[in-house]
Amino acid sequence: MPSHNSEIPTPLIGISIPLFDRHNVTVSIKRDDLNHPNIQGNKWHKLKLNLARAKKDGKDTLITFGGAYSNHIAATAFAAREQGFKCIAFIRGDELANQPSQWSPTLKNAAENGMQLHFLSRQAYREKDSKSFTKHLNTQFHNAYLLPEGGSNPLAVAGFESLMHDIETQQPEWTHLYTAVGTGGTLAGLVKYAKIKPERSIQGVAVLKQADYLIPQIKEWIGDVPHNNWSLLQTYHGGGYGKLSNELMQFKQAFETNFKIPLDPVYTVKMINAFYQELQLGHIKKGSHVILLHTGGLQGNR
Ligand SMILES: *Cc1c(COP(=O)(O)O)cnc(C)c1O
Repeated sequence: MPSHNSEIPTPLIGISIPLFDRHNVTVSIKRDDLNHPNIQGNKWHKLKLNLARAKKDGKDTLITFGGAYSNHIAATAFAAREQGFKCIAFIRGDELANQPSQWSPTLKNAAENGMQLHFLSRQAYREKDSKSFTKHLNTQFHNAYLLPEGGSNPLAVAGFESLMHDIETQQPEWTHLYTAVGTGGTLAGLVKYAKIKPERSIQGVAVLKQADYLIPQIKEWIGDVPHNNWSLLQTYHGGGYGKLSNELMQFKQAFETNFKIPLDPVYTVKMINAFYQELQLGHIKKGSHVILLHTGGLQGNR
């Protein structure tokens, strides 16, 4: 099984169609989906410094949280196995607790990788970050390292420094950088570590409805540093988290056929679609150099 090689940056490749030429923009896609077959894309950047910290602190167990199709659950299960941690995950929804045959491919795979799955009712899941539940976890599982849902925390954000460094080296002329947003940890990391130039902006595309609540947390993660303009685009969620309209499904298939680049159904398809729409709306100036960050998530296609 190939492992991560931080010496070799993932490819950044130009893509071209008449639409881009008409608007006079150059477009590249940063193929970070190719950084690892299992711990893929942004999930690796979020995990890597957290795993190093867990090891340094002598922890032997990872505990985390997520839904039945979560890329973070898939990545954490695999990383835990690869790096020799025990791993426990609390899964949202308890209807499948005793029916492993009904589990999603994500959960089946995570269990095969040794992840212990505990199912919580939706109500209990909402309390997962409460002081009392955290205390309960810390007493029941001593020597465990807690990773939040989606894997985003300050160390996760710091994990994007190296990715941003690669992007600056591979395409120093970039003016627009697009990424998909679930928790906003990835967006915060890109904003925090991008070199500042007046013509630059970083666009996060929310894949869930009513994503306004993410903004204070994103600002906190970015911290008190000078940074480029950034925004959270909130009109391209296509009906909400995990929802894929027929139009988006067709967009995904057309893109994949055209460029031979696979997209995931939850994040990257909405991010790239948002870029196309913004371009057609005339929101992207002539002469711009656009980078679309492929954050991975391809396990979600199963
Ligand atoms: C988790 C995920 C995201 C969202 O990342 P956040 O840091 O939570 O905003 C984007 N793309 C893919 C493929 C993901 O798996």
